[in-house]
Amino acid sequence: MIRYEGDFMSENEIWNKLYKRACEVQNYRVISPFIEGGQVGAAILTKKGNIYTGVCLDAASTLGICAERNAIFNMITNGDSQIEKIVCVMSNGEVGTPCGACRELIMQLDKDSKDVQILIDKDNYKSVTMQELMPNWWGTSRFINN
Ligand SMILES: [Zn+2]
Repeated sequence: MIRYEGDFMSENEIWNKLYKRACEVQNYRVISPFIEGGQVGAAILTKKGNIYTGVCLDAASTLGICAERNAIFNMITNGDSQIEKIVCVMSNGEVGTPCGACRELIMQLDKDSKDVQILIDKDNYKSVTMQELMPNWWGTSRFINN
């Protein structure tokens, strides 16, 4: 069972909850002649049991951001920093894994980030860990030595 806002939910219930929260923020739109976004949504469950969401933003001059990193910045803005699970929903409703930049930021966030779970099959509740996505990550020794 997993704690979420004071209640306890099963593993599958929390994956469903995260998937739903990620879908709820999806809202593709053209924001300006330079910026469009909202087609990808992400939801993060933290170890404290909070959920934070974010959408992707595509902007000229590489100023955009992925949904996962947007959700991470939302989490940090609200004083939380330890991730338990992440669900990222693509524009077609399928779940996806974080890109290389997002994987790197997740790994740098916390010494236990290798245990963060990413949903990869929403129908069968199959997930992978960051350890599986980032084997032999370069920064591990810095966490051990600090
Ligand atoms: Zn990314």
